Amino acid sequence: METKTFDCIILGAGAAGLHCAATAAKRGKSVLVLDHAKQAGKKILISGGGRCNFTNMYTAPDNFLSANPHFCKSALSRYTQWDFIAQVSRYGIAYHEKTLGQLFCDDSAKQIVRMLLDECAEHGARVQLRTNVTDVSFDGQEYQLDTSQGTYNAKSVVVATGGLSMPKLGATAFGFKLAEQFGHSIQPVRAGLVPFTLHDSDKAQFEPLAGTACDVIAASDRASFKEAMLFTHRGVSGPAILQVSSYWQPGESVHINLMPDADAFEALKASKQQQPKMGLKAWLSQHIAKRLVSILLEREKWPQKNLADYSHAELSSIAECLHNWSLKPNGTEGYRTAEVTLGGVNVDEVSSKTMQSKLQPGLYFIGEVLDVTGWLGGYNFQWAWSSAWVCGESV
Ligand SMILES: Cc1cc2nc3c(=O)[nH]c(=O)nc-3n(C[C@H](O)[C@H](O)[C@H](O)COP(=O)(O)OP(=O)(O)OC[C@H]3O[C@@H](n4cnc5c(N)ncnc54)[C@H](O)[C@@H]3O)c2cc1C
Repeated sequence: METKTFDCIILGAGAAGLHCAATAAKRGKSVLVLDHAKQAGKKILISGGGRCNFTNMYTAPDNFLSANPHFCKSALSRYTQWDFIAQVSRYGIAYHEKTLGQLFCDDSAKQIVRMLLDECAEHGARVQLRTNVTDVSFDGQEYQLDTSQGTYNAKSVVVATGGLSMPKLGATAFGFKLAEQFGHSIQPVRAGLVPFTLHDSDKAQFEPLAGTACDVIAASDRASFKEAMLFTHRGVSGPAILQVSSYWQPGESVHINLMPDADAFEALKASKQQQPKMGLKAWLSQHIAKRLVSILLEREKWPQKNLADYSHAELSSIAECLHNWSLKPNGTEGYRTAEVTLGGVNVDEVSSKTMQSKLQPGLYFIGEVLDVTGWLGGYNFQWAWSSAWVCGESV
């Protein structure tokens, strides 16, 4: 007869769920992973343009957002990026650093999913897909899970159902609802690492720029990022914008430094002396993306004359705008395109050492369902691996 009782049932066969399953099974625990999707690790498969940015060499607690910024420290230090890199290397998966410590597979994200599933199979963790969980109850000793495939029992349940981003990939609010059922509070959730949309007038003005990328520093009141910005048909995106979106609050402006590697005022004064007959438009075309120049001139209503004819005060004001160009988003593209969900299960009610609930014995939360969100660049997967491992060592 089929075994229906397990030491541990893990809900969600994503990054965190699979890594936790293998870790617990390695310790001799009987483990069942349940997922409603037809395929395990769907987000891993599409991540990093199909090459999965599986970690970041410089992962540190500062790269994460949470109402309690200390919570992630223990797990990140006990299972580090180097531990996961060692596993990837053991499996012979070739990888490279793309930029800023971001490690990608040379070949395909499928190799990461294959590795996680192989680890589960090798240690006897069972992964069961196409299973809807309809009810979870606790009788004081054991959990009972009613599902579309029957009823299962376990001493512990690990919630690894992720956040709300990309519902078409199977994201649901299940983990948050289950947390609330057992008395947990949820830090308000919103889309993170997400493109901005623009007000209609800005959108119409910037539409011709769609596809234009420029290196900038994008800043909110709380953080700034030096990376590329990309104009899109709907607004602005690119790594610098995605990063700053996680720190942005509705109604705020984003400040863009369009000349992050130079002092625009000094450069304008020098050009005024050396090439006094050069027009502002020609000068701007040498320093920022050409397609942005006309739109900037029109928006900012700068007089168009030779550099020699500008006063220092005028040049200073132009330079100030180039270094601190203010853009007011209308909103974000939301969960449809967001890479992550900010907020989640309140980490003050969860042990940072084991990921076990402080309110409900035998209930654990790992990965993105928790109120821990990483920057763009492999940090979110590292949080999934680290939180999963400490949990797998404890269940
Ligand atoms: C397009 C995209 C690209 C990304 N690229 C990167 C990247 O390159 N690097 C990086 O670090 N991060 C990246 N991320 C973020 C990263 O994918 C997530 O942070 C990470 O997958 C979270 O892992 P998790 O296991 O907590 O959740 P997930 O990987 O989302 O897994 C959750 C699992 O739970 C299942 N589930 C949900 N609801 C239910 C339910 N009701 N019943 C049963 N099962 C359920 C889902 O089907 C899914 O399999 C990307 C995200 C997206 C959307």
